[in-house]
Amino acid sequence: KREGRNSIRLFIKEGHLQEHIDEAIMEAELYKALQEDELTVYYQPKLNTLTNQVHYEALVRWFSPVLGTVPPLKFIPVAEKTTLIHEITRTVVRKVCHDLRTRPELFNNSRTSINLSACLFEPELIDTHFVQVINEYKADPTKIEIEITENILMKNPTKGIELVNYLKELGFRVVIDDFGVSYSSLNYLRNFSLDGIKIDRSFISQIDQMNSEKDISIVHFIIQLARKLNLYVTAEGVETKEQFDILTSLGCHEIQGYYFSRPLPVEKLEQALEHFFSY
Ligand code: C2E
Ligand code: CA
Ligand code: CA
Ligand code: CA
Repeated sequence: KREGRNSIRLFIKEGHLQEHIDEAIMEAELYKALQEDELTVYYQPKLNTLTNQVHYEALVRWFSPVLGTVPPLKFIPVAEKTTLIHEITRTVVRKVCHDLRTRPELFNNSRTSINLSACLFEPELIDTHFVQVINEYKADPTKIEIEITENILMKNPTKGIELVNYLKELGFRVVIDDFGVSYSSLNYLRNFSLDGIKIDRSFISQIDQMNSEKDISIVHFIIQLARKLNLYVTAEGVETKEQFDILTSLGCHEIQGYYFSRPLPVEKLEQALEHFFSY
């Protein structure tokens, strides 16, 4: 015991090793979290500015009795180093399907998007952890959208094209998340039959500031290009009315961000929407 303590002290001195310990602890806790059903799904509403139609993005949440609230940006990368990401995805898909079924008044006229990690972009894995779960629940694939990041497609374009086509044949919508942050953005727009793109928050966060001409030009260009290619454009991370107004005037179809709503548990969605639309 004593030696163990000492050796832990030693580790702490080395930032590197401490990181490994933190990860190992988190991995063990995550494993337990899956067994004990500690993960939940929040939904962030997205607003179509033309039709006022609301869609949703499902975002995983982990309230750990041991570690407290752990943000997905902390635990998803750890899960992605192991197969825990498979189980997390299954859990998220299952919970989304459950909510779609039990709250039709909220979800029936909407689409709900689910984030798909690059690790799952293999035919067998997508079938086992995504498609099969949706089939089990007899959920309607046309109500579900898949958000993937650019690097998934560029890592192996041929496989990427096949998988996107497969998912689309099954009826899912497929959109690109965090659009614009990697180099090859334009190239894959030619080769993939996507439904939409989501402009990364880094392009949005400054457009209402002084001297933001460059950011506005880039966002304007992305929106025009997307519209020309018949892609649905969403802006993420919209926090202010000024950003909202600029994006709407530039022809952005859909707005997502704290300005409209934070991600919320399913029980709080209805009230939040009522509140927003009563203004
Ligand atoms: P993302 O897919 O880009 O999700 C958007 C993130 O921005 C979410 O953070 C959301 O809460 C946050 N956000 C939304 N509106 C605003 C805003 O107006 N301002 C600011 N500052 N932030 C805003 P969250 O929920 O912490 O998720 C972070 C990332 O973790 C996600 O980024 C996604 O990459 C990943 N993630 C979340 N849930 C899942 C999941 O179920 N599966 C997988 N594979 N990844 C997930
Ligand atoms: Ca996303
Ligand atoms: Ca995003
Ligand atoms: Ca982002």
